[in-house]
Amino acid sequence: MSADERKVGPGGRLGIIGGGQLGRMSALAAARLGIDCHIFSPDSDSPAFAVSAWQTCAAYDDATALADFAGSVDVVSFEFENIPAASVRILADRVPVRPAWTVLEIAQERVTEKSFFNGLGIATAPWRAISDRAGLQQALAELGGPAVLKTCRFGYDGKGQVKIDRNSDLDQAWASMAGGPAILEGFVDFVMEASVLVARGLDGDIACFDVVENRHRHHILDMTIAPAAVPPSLARQAQEMAIAAAEALDLVGLLAVELFVCADGRLLVNEMAPRPHNSGHWTMNACHTDQFEQFVRAVCGLPLGSPERFADAVMTNLIGDDVARWPALLADQGTAVHLYGKTEARPGRKMGHITRIKPRTDQPFGSMDRKPRQ
Ligand code: AMP
Repeated sequence: MSADERKVGPGGRLGIIGGGQLGRMSALAAARLGIDCHIFSPDSDSPAFAVSAWQTCAAYDDATALADFAGSVDVVSFEFENIPAASVRILADRVPVRPAWTVLEIAQERVTEKSFFNGLGIATAPWRAISDRAGLQQALAELGGPAVLKTCRFGYDGKGQVKIDRNSDLDQAWASMAGGPAILEGFVDFVMEASVLVARGLDGDIACFDVVENRHRHHILDMTIAPAAVPPSLARQAQEMAIAAAEALDLVGLLAVELFVCADGRLLVNEMAPRPHNSGHWTMNACHTDQFEQFVRAVCGLPLGSPERFADAVMTNLIGDDVARWPALLADQGTAVHLYGKTEARPGRKMGHITRIKPRTDQPFGSMDRKPRQ
């Protein structure tokens, strides 16, 4: 068996780049399967360190630490995808890296990401790549207002983006991009934000979770409602988009695709993340296999589990001081509480989440599992 086909079972070691709550919950899921995690993170107080068998605290560009880390594990994956290409090369020379660098490269950069989806015939908001102030003016004239100007890299939770229209101060807007490059997107007047998570195994097997609705507060995910109240045909279309993306990427792992649902029923892809995702936390309490176990199974080359949802669910993030409510939340018998072990509750910081489930109201509309291609 070549390294590319390596399967990592109980007793094996999974290396994860990034030490946040996604790494923490992945390590817990891996432990349930008898797989030890080695977490690589630059932050000494990483939430994932506390629950993993092995830890490396070093910078993402520390070549020696990366090589040692790669030498100590059977496979490497990511809970944080903004790491330098050179670092991934060091890892990939020594150990299978799943998903592959090509996937991270596309997901890290908004223009490449939008081009990828459009190339598959999947619609996004209209957009233009922007490299300077004059380009911004030209693009705004072409797209019309309002529009959203975003940095191409490192934007998350509304950071690195600004809404503009014809009356906006373009000097100020461009200055906020810190020199670019940037992307200008037409503003989408959506009726709902939704997302879908798909896992793809080493053998091409596909397992797709149900489509969910996401509600944001101050640009940060506040609540995920599973399932999204959309017609089955629309949900299926969203799942087909995510599956098409995973297959085109030759993904081994988990892919989250965020979408806008428009009033006329059109679906537009906003962005993707090739890793577990905040909008998949509900699966921990409402699905046969949760997103973290599915992630571990996929990157370890193991059979995927059933993504079937057995309950309706509402997941609410505990942001900043929300976490102080933990005694009352724990006392509520209908609430599943997940805390990330972070000591400092800074504003905007994700400290934990809660999920409430109730009996499933809809009829399952059929599994989106697919057997491997022949
Ligand atoms: P992003 O960083 O691309 O995930 O954007 C963060 C949030 O900003 C999204 O969840 C939307 O609520 C909003 N947003 C982003 N892009 C657009 C757009 N083109 N039109 C309308 N709202 C947007």
